[in-house]
Amino acid sequence: MNLCDIKTIKQVMAMFSLNFRKEFGQNFLTNNMVVEDIADNCCTHADSTILEIGPGIGSLTKELAERYKNVVSLEIDHGLIPVLKYTLDAYRNVKIINEDVMKADLNQILAPYLAGGISVCANLPYYITSPILTALLEADCFESVTVMVQKEVAQRIAAKPGSADYSAFTVFCQYYAQPEILFDVPAGCFMPQPKVTSAVIQLQVRKERNWGALDESIFFRTVKASFAMRRKKLSNGLASGFPELGKLGAAEVIEAAGFDANVRGETLSIPEFV
Ligand code: SAM
Repeated sequence: MNLCDIKTIKQVMAMFSLNFRKEFGQNFLTNNMVVEDIADNCCTHADSTILEIGPGIGSLTKELAERYKNVVSLEIDHGLIPVLKYTLDAYRNVKIINEDVMKADLNQILAPYLAGGISVCANLPYYITSPILTALLEADCFESVTVMVQKEVAQRIAAKPGSADYSAFTVFCQYYAQPEILFDVPAGCFMPQPKVTSAVIQLQVRKERNWGALDESIFFRTVKASFAMRRKKLSNGLASGFPELGKLGAAEVIEAAGFDANVRGETLSIPEFV
């Protein structure tokens, strides 16, 4: 069964009396080459376990199951569970769990698979891309995260300091991982077609985060405050994010760290934020 074939997708959905659920970001891949490329590139060792988020009707899941030791797939839509039992019946190394990734205890679910290493691979539901990536990076149990996202989100994650796309989310992602945009995917490769172009981005999770931040919560609070007032001086953002400093105190801190008092937050690299 070719699960990327539009006729097959329609037949399978009809067989189980299902419609595409917009509220779950259901845009299924219809291009075999794209699905195979993602599965080929998401991990370098066949002994790994792959966590997939949102298997849909199982097109990517099947390719992952053919390449890697175990696949654990979390699907929120209860209606798709019997579909997946049907389409993935032949694959004994796939475990489907009917759960919302945002509510799942990832460390507990993945505990039996830690030995061989775990990577994430997914065509993400776009409505919750940032919360999912945040949860995945904070779970701190993955070697890499390879996901399809909106192209503009991929550009934001991989942005360089000082560019228009550079944001607090960029710093958050790059603090935990090294990003690389693998390739773009046009809207015509999905059903139904989204209104945006997509891209596959890979985050190689840093084994050690030797950035030197003494207190990560203060680091991230600083980053958030620094981006809260774009195109304004860093001292304004810091003074508003740390009211205890006041404007003068914020300027003093900035100068004491060796920066010009007029520096803008969105030009700083991670080591500079540290
Ligand atoms: N992997 C399939 C493909 O590439 O054709 C489907 C991808 S589709 C963009 C997103 C999938 O994520 C859907 O199956 C949707 O039901 C599922 N999903 C949406 N929100 C979810 C959540 N919070 N937790 C788990 N799965 C979710």
